[in-house]
Amino acid sequence: MKRLAVLGHPVAHSRSPAMHNAALAELGLAREWAYEAIDLAPDEFEPRVRAMATEGLAGANVTVPHKGAALALADALSETAREIGAANTLSFEAGEIRAENTDAQGLLDALPESPAGQRALVLGAGGAARAVVWALLREGADVEVWNRTASRAETLCAELGGKSVEAPDLRTYRLLVNSTSVGLHGEDPFVELPFQASHLEDRHTMVDLVYGDSPSQLLTIAAHVGARRVDGIEILVRQGARSLEIWTGHSAPLDVMRAAARS
Ligand code: NAP
Repeated sequence: MKRLAVLGHPVAHSRSPAMHNAALAELGLAREWAYEAIDLAPDEFEPRVRAMATEGLAGANVTVPHKGAALALADALSETAREIGAANTLSFEAGEIRAENTDAQGLLDALPESPAGQRALVLGAGGAARAVVWALLREGADVEVWNRTASRAETLCAELGGKSVEAPDLRTYRLLVNSTSVGLHGEDPFVELPFQASHLEDRHTMVDLVYGDSPSQLLTIAAHVGARRVDGIEILVRQGARSLEIWTGHSAPLDVMRAAARS
């Protein structure tokens, strides 16, 4: 049996086992492969992952708060993971740990059109925002970054590119990406983020990485004004699909993964 796992906090990985096991079953691989969730505290991450590398685990997804630690302990890094500074996908081969970041490509896969040439506002400067900014810049978007703590947006832009902004004018952007954690615990985005509901227009594409059991407040208002929308579950599915392809070499069954992640 080839074992796969998601390593992290239960809130961040509750949908991944169902999504990946449904995909493995659809591919006819359920007899050989199985995907489970393993909760790890930060101080146990490195010793447990090093042990997994020699105990038959084939691969793992890594969630908050371990993405930096995953990068640090890997024996080999993809260029994407190195440049972003975080890894969400590990592969174990002959005792060696390889790290990749599929969050960036997952975001691009989820967008309704290429962001090339579009003006984009990224909200947030944490780990998720780094992958978003890296991906959008690579595709040729014109990226500005707002963060509650402005100095973190400045640092992110100094490292990855893009321009930090303190009072964004929403009329100037086409693509809006919430990569803060606002909304995760019921926070009001129109209090915590630098714009009002009335600033959203049908010309916007609103992406919200935060997901829960019902559509986020940002996406609900975006739907109301006729804006295009991408939710966090679609991004979860797309990054998971890329991880599955790295481990198994098979094309991921997106519809099956989507249905399992949303059920
Ligand atoms: P993180 O590193 O902890 O960063 C959190 C970010 O949110 C920081 O920019 C922080 O600003 C900001 N923030 C927190 N509370 C805020 C508030 N009340 N008002 C304004 N800004 C606030 O977390 P992360 O790893 O980047 O993840 C961010 C979110 O994306 C999480 O909710 C996570 O679940 C989600 N996510 C989803 C996917 C997916 O596949 N859908 C993938 C990755 C992450 P400060 O710097 O000022 O603290």
